[in-house]
Amino acid sequence: MPAGQVFLVGAGPGDPGLVTRLAEQAIRGAETAVYDHLVHPRILGWIPAHARRIYVGKRRGHQEMPQAEINRILCREAAEGRKVVRIKGGDPYVFGRGAEEAEALADAGIPFRVIPGVTAGIGALAYAGLAVTHRDFASEVAFVTGHDDPDSPDCRIDWSWYARFRGTIVIYMGMTRKTRIAQVLMEHGMNPAMPVALVERGSWPDQKVEAGTLKDLADPDRPWPIRPPGLIMIGETVAMRPKLDWWSQLPMSGRTVLLTRPEDDAAKSEAVFEELGAEVLIAPAIRVGRLDETLELDGALRQIAGYDWIVWTSANGVRFFFERLFELGMDMRALGDARLAAIGPATARALRDHGLNADLVPGSYRSEDLADALADRVAGKRVLLARADRGRNVLQDRLTPVAANVRQVTVYTNADIEKWPAEIEMALRDDRVDWVTLTSSAIARRFAALDRSIRSDVRSKRVKYASISPVTSESAREAGITPTVEAREFTMAGLVQAIVDYERAGN
Ligand code: SAH
Repeated sequence: MPAGQVFLVGAGPGDPGLVTRLAEQAIRGAETAVYDHLVHPRILGWIPAHARRIYVGKRRGHQEMPQAEINRILCREAAEGRKVVRIKGGDPYVFGRGAEEAEALADAGIPFRVIPGVTAGIGALAYAGLAVTHRDFASEVAFVTGHDDPDSPDCRIDWSWYARFRGTIVIYMGMTRKTRIAQVLMEHGMNPAMPVALVERGSWPDQKVEAGTLKDLADPDRPWPIRPPGLIMIGETVAMRPKLDWWSQLPMSGRTVLLTRPEDDAAKSEAVFEELGAEVLIAPAIRVGRLDETLELDGALRQIAGYDWIVWTSANGVRFFFERLFELGMDMRALGDARLAAIGPATARALRDHGLNADLVPGSYRSEDLADALADRVAGKRVLLARADRGRNVLQDRLTPVAANVRQVTVYTNADIEKWPAEIEMALRDDRVDWVTLTSSAIARRFAALDRSIRSDVRSKRVKYASISPVTSESAREAGITPTVEAREFTMAGLVQAIVDYERAGN
């Protein structure tokens, strides 16, 4: 049997971008992944499909799995010869009981490695505009657990000692005991005006931060809109937060965007919105896929040299076209000297990814404009239109009278989604979505239909719609949705810009 081993991996405080390369590599290579809450779903998405997944965190209304049980699972999985990845929030050795797990592995003679992570007491605070040291204010930092009752003789922290600590105190797991901790610190002489901050879900898109003073924290009647799990920071540098708070300055921090494009395209836009500070939900309203029946497409591809113009109206069209071309054992040379047209920049980029330059991209990215631009050029020529199994017929209608021959061939399918995944439906029902992107007429119609089915009675006050073009806006309005913004350039970049302009204008 191959020797198993365990990787104790720190996954950082939340934002998947804060995961180290080593951690990502280990997770992608896992045969068993053992994880708990506080780990971003995207990180869990790196776990290979064939790997065992074992959740050992808290479940609603249940206790956490006992540590001894987790240790047993780690030992068992490794003893069976697997590469086990134990994913932990933050850093494995900072209050994560990672040392206990490592100890159990060492006792059992199981090889293990530790991949450190960005601990919440540094990473989550940095996203919250909080610096743990500053030359003028704090020259030492203490990471402290706030788990124990400060009045209990068993309390592992001597809070009276911390009352005189001149650096920054970062308290993990202290939300439920915060009032008493603050009182004890004050009773032992800490300045009641000492700045404090509470941070919930730091570095997550819905992070919350609330600042005040030690006296506020000691006041049992003062409400704090921060819930566990969260961090408490006590120290002078909290006062610098107004200057250091870069996160709230992002154009879309605290906003949730629902991307309704097909999976692959949505993944590309996701990073763009996240960089702007938004939380992204992906819910394709339409699924694109391969044809079940390729007879007609294969016929067109085999005679591809006979066309003077090949026209694509989507990046997906390009992708599926060449996928099939290669499957047939052909390659780019089969295209001969055909001229190539793309409806817009994304489609042209897809061509470039295949080593081809588009000969024609219309000035504005609509079928009508593409038809106009082509009409002058295709007189007497043979034209192939590569498209989805449904869509508008503008090109065919406009070019047929001009060209010698126009053939429209379906290269991929475009199917409606029957219903949203549960978490998307919940986000819409709870009115947690700020923006829905409408990137085609079909998507707008489909979104409207699905939305009506879950929210027939109440109309959301929060959600706004961003449309990619006048054609899409028109379809949306016909379906009962009024876009708040419309892209000026009919691309995803144009749509993002329209949303950012709206948000920047202080809406
Ligand atoms: N090993 C982890 C800490 C585990 S203890 C680390 O190094 O970060 C769990 C505690 O960490 C929580 O109770 C909370 O105090 C803190 N915590 C973890 N992630 C956090 C986040 N994103 N924002 C605020 N606090 C967080």
